[in-house]
Amino acid sequence: MPGLLPRRMMPQPLSRSSAPVVVIGAGPAGLMAAEVLSRAGVAVDVFDAMPSAGRKFLLAGRGGLNLTHSEPLAPFTGRFRQGDGEGADAVAGWLRDFGPDAVRGWAAGLGVQTFVGTSGRVFPTEMKAAPLLRAWLHRLRHPDTPGAAPVRFHMRHRWAGWAAPDTPDSIAARACPASAGGTFCFESPAGPVTLCPRAAVLALGGGSWPRLGSDGAWAPWLAQAGADVAPLAPANCGFDVGWSPYFAERFAGQPLKNVALSFTDGRGHGFARRGEFVLTATGIEGSLVYAASALLRDEIARSGHATLHLNLLPARTPEQVRAAVAHPRGSRSLSSHLKSRLGLAAVHTALLHELLPPAQLHDAAALAAAIGALPITLRAPRPLAEAISSAGGVRFAALTDALELRARPGLFCAGEMLDWEAPTGGYLLTACLASGARAARGVLARLGNE
Ligand SMILES: Cc1cc2nc3c(=O)[nH]c(=O)nc-3n(C[C@H](O)[C@H](O)[C@H](O)COP(=O)(O)OP(=O)(O)OC[C@H]3O[C@@H](n4cnc5c(N)ncnc54)[C@H](O)[C@@H]3O)c2cc1C
Repeated sequence: MPGLLPRRMMPQPLSRSSAPVVVIGAGPAGLMAAEVLSRAGVAVDVFDAMPSAGRKFLLAGRGGLNLTHSEPLAPFTGRFRQGDGEGADAVAGWLRDFGPDAVRGWAAGLGVQTFVGTSGRVFPTEMKAAPLLRAWLHRLRHPDTPGAAPVRFHMRHRWAGWAAPDTPDSIAARACPASAGGTFCFESPAGPVTLCPRAAVLALGGGSWPRLGSDGAWAPWLAQAGADVAPLAPANCGFDVGWSPYFAERFAGQPLKNVALSFTDGRGHGFARRGEFVLTATGIEGSLVYAASALLRDEIARSGHATLHLNLLPARTPEQVRAAVAHPRGSRSLSSHLKSRLGLAAVHTALLHELLPPAQLHDAAALAAAIGALPITLRAPRPLAEAISSAGGVRFAALTDALELRARPGLFCAGEMLDWEAPTGGYLLTACLASGARAARGVLARLGNE
């Protein structure tokens, strides 16, 4: 049975009082849960498999930490998708309690000022995650609010599921019936550790970039615990096209700037936006592709492929492009003709050569049409491990509004391990923080009712 420690490991149960409330996962969602609990004076123990906290948060800061977005709450919440559905009612609820303004206020409280970039995205003035994380961890360990309880961290403690019903651990679990669903088993450098907390928040992340700690190993354990878990899938991800070896070798890494991507799925849901992306050795990735990735991924899952259309010159009208392509080119090559008349670079012309049959390349009207709507067929999303974030996770039907698992009272879930997704733009971190706060308030309500 996955998630259960073998008998031979003979774990030593800690006493119930040594860890009344645990948070497992020291990413943004888990740390925010710990913060809310600590401020309420609850002694909380945070466990994480990695040697240090917030590894993915730090990575997010590498290219400029996009903490949140400045748009009003209604369009902000409209960016989220929940499970298979269109809307995101649960996420909207958390964001009403802890939205983009609260995120900025929270960062300011840690001494990190933020600014709104030209795209409306919000960044720390220093752009980095490290100063924010450092200040946050310090405040969690040494709270400055009267009555707050210091948070204790237990790094290199990998949660490995619950104890099997017939092990010594489970006997310990029966001695503390208020436990959040059983005896938690951890693997640590000092050997196995078991815990029987009154309440627990799981904030284990999704399955992208597993080397940073969130590997999705929890999914079968939670399913066994009675939670309905949607399979994890890549979100904000690249796609495979399958370029010819010549094209891949010559053009991988080249950006396509100021293009427009449009796509309509088999159900009539459309996407159309200008932006930029990058050609990779196998296909495409980058911000414009990520923005369309949920629709593209789902279409590939349904039909085996998805064909988007690319306008290489969205600033020009179709008539302008047609006239320029049809202009007599004399002895010039097609590539220099398109460069001089339309400003198309070598990468654009190579893409046309890669994707169009020769007859279309030599038909001015057909070529002009393709420059305005070049079909690119995507065969597969890139693997989850490479994605920016995950779709799928614990389904909302399995949870109360407080993010408590209906099947395991006392056990709460938060962050990217829940079944929602959002584009890049600061939406991911905001919702992770907001869900951590929501789960912690759920824990407080449960403790208050005991
Ligand atoms: C390259 C990149 C750039 C990004 N940039 C941005 C950005 O600019 N803005 C934005 O909003 N979002 C960004 N994101 C997404 C954002 O970082 C994540 O959505 C967010 O970190 C998820 O938070 P979380 O707390 O749910 O999970 P995580 O941050 O993944 O934390 C989960 C924690 O749980 C621990 N864990 C997992 N399993 C176990 C276990 N069995 N036992 C113990 N511990 C365990 C992990 O070690 C980890 O520390 C980016 C992501 C990537 C990959």
